[in-house]
Amino acid sequence: PTMGALHEGHLSLVDESILNNDVTILSIYVNPLQFDNPKDLQTYPKNLQNDMKLIQSKVDFCFTPDTDTMYPNGYNFCLSESRLSTKLCGNNRQGHFEGVLQIVLKLVNITSCDSLYLGEKDYQQYILLKSLFQEMFVNINVYSCPTKREKDGLALSSRNKKLSIKHRLMAPSFYKVISKFSSYLNSNSISKTEKMIVSHLDAYGFKIEYVSIASSNDLSTPRVKKSYEDLRIFCAVKLGDVRLIDNISYQDSLRVCS
Ligand code: AMP
Repeated sequence: PTMGALHEGHLSLVDESILNNDVTILSIYVNPLQFDNPKDLQTYPKNLQNDMKLIQSKVDFCFTPDTDTMYPNGYNFCLSESRLSTKLCGNNRQGHFEGVLQIVLKLVNITSCDSLYLGEKDYQQYILLKSLFQEMFVNINVYSCPTKREKDGLALSSRNKKLSIKHRLMAPSFYKVISKFSSYLNSNSISKTEKMIVSHLDAYGFKIEYVSIASSNDLSTPRVKKSYEDLRIFCAVKLGDVRLIDNISYQDSLRVCS
């Protein structure tokens, strides 16, 4: 499932699916229900013609439904979750995950797919969807694929197109700061590490929505360090009107720093 304006991050999910399955379906649909901000929905980058050029020789099917197809009777259902979805992005984007859960469940049911490839960039979305299918006994494999980045470290995102020239030049510092997470954590407490990352991002000019160290398994927030293995740092920041999210595991951060 994608919202289009395809980039190498999306294509890496397609490649992973092609490698492991007989048939690959890509969906492109900008789901109004998951937008908490009407202006963000209106200005979300769309380029279906170019998307088609990028994927037509790769996938077996491209599903590009309209809203009458996906919500034939309007927005009458609300699929909500009360544990994973209340943290991180859930705190700042009212109704976002309800919209995501509903649309991906619909897409899975329409296509009858048996595997789903999602990006680690949206890690909270990945574990939330995995949990939905487990709890609802939906027989599907959910896989996460590593975050694809620009050479300067910025995570690829359709929203990057909306950055001004000035903000695009500032944006790589986001990953530069969070990738040092393991080196901060090795000599500081969890809350001190979060504070240090906040102050570095602040100094680089980012408006911070959240910086949070949490378990990769269930997004719980340990206040004392037991084992680092499962920890991950999650951040959301803004440059102007453009919201950027990123995350990195302790293990990956060790590899980047070494
Ligand atoms: P979107 O079109 O933003 O809804 O993303 C569709 C899927 O592509 C989601 O599973 C995202 O996590 C994944 N994705 C987006 N950006 C990247 C990236 N830079 N690297 C890997 N996967 C990504």
